[in-house]
Amino acid sequence: MSGSKNPLYVDIMALHPEVTGSCIFCVVKDAILKKSVKFVVDCGLFQELAHEDLNEKEFPFKPENLDFVLITHNHLDHIGRVPFLVKQGFNKNIYTTTGTSLFLRKAWNNTTEILERKAKLKNQKPLYEKDDVLYTLSKVKACEFCKPIKVADNVEVTFYMNGHVPGASIVHVRISSCFSEEDINLIFTGDYKKDNIFFDVDPLPKELLNLPVSIICESTYGDMTSSEISYTFEDNIKNAIREGKTNIVIPAFSFARTQELLYKLKNMQDNNLIPKTYQIYLDGKLSQSFTTIFLTHAEMLGFKNEMIDFLPKGLKNIYKEERFAIMKDERPKIIITSAGMGSYGPAQMHIPEVITRKNGLIHFTGYMAEGTLGRDLQEAKQGDMVKIGGIIKKKLADVLYTNEFSSHAKQDEIIELLNKFNCKKLVLFNHGESATKEQIAKVAFENIKAKNIGILGNDVLFRVGPYGLIKTMTTKFC
Ligand SMILES: [Zn+2]
Ligand SMILES: [Zn+2]
Repeated sequence: MSGSKNPLYVDIMALHPEVTGSCIFCVVKDAILKKSVKFVVDCGLFQELAHEDLNEKEFPFKPENLDFVLITHNHLDHIGRVPFLVKQGFNKNIYTTTGTSLFLRKAWNNTTEILERKAKLKNQKPLYEKDDVLYTLSKVKACEFCKPIKVADNVEVTFYMNGHVPGASIVHVRISSCFSEEDINLIFTGDYKKDNIFFDVDPLPKELLNLPVSIICESTYGDMTSSEISYTFEDNIKNAIREGKTNIVIPAFSFARTQELLYKLKNMQDNNLIPKTYQIYLDGKLSQSFTTIFLTHAEMLGFKNEMIDFLPKGLKNIYKEERFAIMKDERPKIIITSAGMGSYGPAQMHIPEVITRKNGLIHFTGYMAEGTLGRDLQEAKQGDMVKIGGIIKKKLADVLYTNEFSSHAKQDEIIELLNKFNCKKLVLFNHGESATKEQIAKVAFENIKAKNIGILGNDVLFRVGPYGLIKTMTTKFC
């Protein structure tokens, strides 16, 4: 190491200590050149009800002073505030993978519609509008996997494959200085899963795994192991059909989850587990748009051959004008609809219709936050009165849930990923509820070899050099 005191370091802090509103702010300082480079990794919407107001809050840094933005993947809790960042003055490059870049226009435009409706209710201006999205899109630079890109004089970025969702990445940021013999190597896992049903995930290259690294690691499900997952979806649908349930509604997230479910239903059709009499529908504009992108860009997204055609036989899209007639139609049907937690999108119309039917099944397929319709229905007993959109209904339909489609690594898989890196200087857990982060940090302490393990929150700043942690400082960031 050079004789002078910390000639090169990076300060790392997070905007939000929990799961949504993902935004990691980094300030690189080259003490000899007296230069600094500032960037953020992701800039997402706060989605927890309790933190929604934070979306409108100004950033605790000057957006115009950022040198670049990195996006790990196309989920709103990682990209939803990027157009706001641009509206507030950021006007340089936004780097992401080619795969992720395919989905951003639809995702952001759809968000402007939601923001507009919310703003109208509050008699306010929306967080951002279509023009902001258009300008933001002009700043997006699509990058290939494994190809290093120079993003600043002394900073190079490489995206690696990640099974979380199509286009998702693990990002390596390499920071160098002519006055320091060693580089700083930061690894941002983004939301992480080791595999994906649509594509094979290339292993991380050996050269990367042998570097001295500081890893910023997600921990959404750091409190459960993969053995706690129960694969019940297929049996639940099979049983419902056997019991004569002819109104099946499956709320699902628009991006990646919906497409995986379509494939699952196709598979069940192929194995004669769904009778031909059942019509399969897809409802939700964004779900339909993302499905089209999956189909038209399968090759660009690196899909396996068998995943190029993943649609169930006879699938029909539902459009607004015909929705009511289809809901009332008594013929057997399975409807995949947005949104996943039941509180937004056409699910809000399908659920009240089916909940009062004995021949109905509402099958949730992902995490449901407290206060959402999905969570309320799941907790209510059969025959209980439930309040949906202000109306009291009797719950007669079955309401089921499975955690098998989760696209996040569990505790054991997080440890497995970390242990692939042979020279861990520092591991910082982020993107998890506080108790979960504490738990995974303890497990990591016993199961991985790292010089330091910490928890990234908005109350502490981590100063990191080529050899890992230099020091921490308390700060109140957001
Ligand atoms: Zn995600
Ligand atoms: Zn996330």
